[in-house]
Amino acid sequence: MLRLPPFRYVAARTAREAARILADNGPDAMPVAGGTDLFPNMKRRQMTPKVLVGLRDVAGVHGIDANGALRLGAMATLTEVAEDANVRERWPAVAKAAGLVSSPPLRNAGTIGGNLCVDTRCNYYNQSEFWRASIGYCMKRDGDVCLVAPGSDKCWALSSSDTAPVMIALGAEVTLVGPEGERRIAVRDLYGPDGIAYLAKRPEEVLTRIHVPDRAGWATTYRKVRRRGSIDFPILGVAVAVRLTAAGVVDEARIVLGAVHTAPVEAGDAEAFLRGRRLDAEAIEMAAGIAYKPAKPLDNADLGYAWRKRMARIEVARALREVAGLPTGDLPAVTA
Ligand SMILES: Cc1cc2nc3c(=O)[nH]c(=O)nc-3n(C[C@H](O)[C@H](O)[C@H](O)COP(=O)(O)OP(=O)(O)OC[C@H]3O[C@@H](n4cnc5c(N)ncnc54)[C@H](O)[C@@H]3O)c2cc1C
Ligand code: SF4
Repeated sequence: MLRLPPFRYVAARTAREAARILADNGPDAMPVAGGTDLFPNMKRRQMTPKVLVGLRDVAGVHGIDANGALRLGAMATLTEVAEDANVRERWPAVAKAAGLVSSPPLRNAGTIGGNLCVDTRCNYYNQSEFWRASIGYCMKRDGDVCLVAPGSDKCWALSSSDTAPVMIALGAEVTLVGPEGERRIAVRDLYGPDGIAYLAKRPEEVLTRIHVPDRAGWATTYRKVRRRGSIDFPILGVAVAVRLTAAGVVDEARIVLGAVHTAPVEAGDAEAFLRGRRLDAEAIEMAAGIAYKPAKPLDNADLGYAWRKRMARIEVARALREVAGLPTGDLPAVTA
């Protein structure tokens, strides 16, 4: 059985206090929310913080407020988000993505804030200490080479959050609290340059709230590909949000891919292609053919990377068909 390494647990009462403790302890400290990602990673010695700053008792980071825009406390559990009646009715893609994370017990403990901050993943990294030692480690932890792309000076571990693509598609923002004050940034700006520095926020900043604009008049969805129907992380996620004019022409379109790069990928060219067009089967096929191009899956997740890339095209088409009210089942099947 894998055991947690020793650490000191400090329960913070305010977000500012949490940020101060994190700043005082530098790289030795990390925040912990539900612990559903952090604790397994610590057991595998992917990270060994000496101080964990608990966010459970922090004031003002719980609850869901759907009065106008949607405000999610970072400590709202994925189950709370997935089952909230307002979220299901007015932000269905948020509820769907939260409800597709892992399995019910982990959604009961895992939080929406932790989901946006979840570590990037790679088959060479999400392994026990013993396994990683046997292959000489990699540069995300303890080593100096990328085992997926040995010539690369960059880590290609995959962004694997189910809710991040949806939040970006909906134009959501987050509040980050540091020792000296707070700031609000777009979720699209939360992500960093590679699979190691995968968050752009400062390490001592605590994510306290997620703000999702009112998206009345938009059609949205999220689709997830994984081997099993539960537990598995996404090997592909597709979030789509579309607003049509009264004449049925695309006024605005957002397409965001998850688990195909070190951060969620916005398919800007496909979005631009759709603007001003009728959302019919032909436009959808062409948009999907553009949208999957920036996907960069490598051989470091479940199933073949070439198949995952081809599936990106199919799943974008399915997601666009879903929001257009067209059948999704008659697209070609792709074998792994
Ligand atoms: C078997 C298994 C399957 C899983 N499947 C999925 C899946 O399908 N999809 C998916 O998206 N995730 C999956 N996960 C990962 C995880 O369960 C979820 O991402 C969950 O939402 C993480 O939330 P948490 O509160 O448990 O975060 P924690 O584990 O507490 O923290 C995760 C990371 O975020 C940081 N953090 C947490 N909260 C904050 C905050 N408020 N401010 C700043 N930093 C913060 C922590 O320091 C840590 O680095 C899976 C995990 C396991 C073990
Ligand atoms: S992509 Fe490379 S450096 Fe990053 S975790 Fe995988 S093997 Fe390690």
